[in-house]
Amino acid sequence: MSRGPLLFKDIDTPGLTGLDVYKKQGGYEAVASSVGKKTPDEVIEIVKASGLRGRGGAGFPTGLKWSFVPKQSPKARYIVCNADESEPGTFKDRELMELNPHLLIEGMILAGFAIGSHQGYIYLRGEFEYVQRILDKAIAEARAAGILGDNVMGSGYAFQLYTHLGAGAYICGEETALLSSLEGYRGQPRLKPPFPAVEGLYASPTVVNNVETLMAVPHIVKNGGAWYRQWGNEKSPGTKVFSVSGPVKRPGNYEVPLGYSMKSLIENECGGMRDGLKLKAIIPGGSSVPMLPAADLDTPLDYESMNAKGTFLGSGGVIVIDDKTCIVDALWNVTRFYQHESCGKCTPCREGTYWMSEVLERLENGTGRDADIDLLADVADNILGKSFCALGDAAAMPVQGALKHFRAEFEHHVKHKTCLVNRRREEVAGVRA
Ligand code: SF4
Repeated sequence: MSRGPLLFKDIDTPGLTGLDVYKKQGGYEAVASSVGKKTPDEVIEIVKASGLRGRGGAGFPTGLKWSFVPKQSPKARYIVCNADESEPGTFKDRELMELNPHLLIEGMILAGFAIGSHQGYIYLRGEFEYVQRILDKAIAEARAAGILGDNVMGSGYAFQLYTHLGAGAYICGEETALLSSLEGYRGQPRLKPPFPAVEGLYASPTVVNNVETLMAVPHIVKNGGAWYRQWGNEKSPGTKVFSVSGPVKRPGNYEVPLGYSMKSLIENECGGMRDGLKLKAIIPGGSSVPMLPAADLDTPLDYESMNAKGTFLGSGGVIVIDDKTCIVDALWNVTRFYQHESCGKCTPCREGTYWMSEVLERLENGTGRDADIDLLADVADNILGKSFCALGDAAAMPVQGALKHFRAEFEHHVKHKTCLVNRRREEVAGVRA
């Protein structure tokens, strides 16, 4: 991971997964100085003042989310970490947990204390079994040291923490599907309201936060909201880890301040395009957000700037697309993923993802019809905002983004029964011959 004067600057320290090294870096100081010394409301106010927004994709203010948990509820309250990182192009949470599991544990304790919870779960995607082992080892260490358990660091506050492995379904990243899966049911979304803050796990008040969000919390509680606001801007404060994939020289995870230029991220941190390829398009926030053309590369990486361009910061999975990639083919690939991952509960998503995939297959294989492009747009319009959960929108938005910026490529497929990019490749091959 790229380091700078930011939150995760020491994350590559050898042995950081162990408690001793973590404590030498100031680990668990936020718990020691807050739990039992500050009130839960004071901790919530610090996080509110920081302006921290959920890093899983929605960008909802974290402190505000915590404040929705009813204080007088007689039911148990739960804090759940969403570590079901399944969004294509996103791999930051996996690396953060692998390298610094205690930071996540500390964030969970602080979040649990703030909402009055005594039990937390880290829900991991099924493929993260090796990450679960790292976390379980760190949890056992923290428990043995009295950091987790009936008396957290001598404060009198009790907090137990467990990991749970899902079965590898993308839909379980949706918070209510995640809670169903955690309860042992099929991972399908639930109707909202009631929202999890009121009726979540076991019908009790529950907060679900993303890994990166929770890992920012110890830094914020220790240093204050104003300290966190030294980075980013008014509405998008702080830093964010971006996972960059595609044909760049140095793909990987990079932590930069929010508002950082996407161009600088690609050209400076990632070393620019590799093999002489040219940038054609960029998906800024994981495969479910609309792509942007290369002309928009200067857009700042923050929530508002991305919205102004008609897309989203999302999970921060930056997918770089080069000029030798066919947009129709790339979109068909993305759409097949959503078709496969649709849980089937509602008609627009279940049927719509199937039909979008069918139409894209025709277009890609040179059997597309004149009406197919409008049909594709129509199906996407009938999924967006009409599905039961956000997966429907996630399937429709990439289609809309691709048609908005690269309609000519779709038209070329219909008219010439072949791909614009492949044709160019053949021409290039001809010139070389
Ligand atoms: Fe299931 Fe898709 Fe409907 Fe969500 S939108 S409930 S994933 S069918």
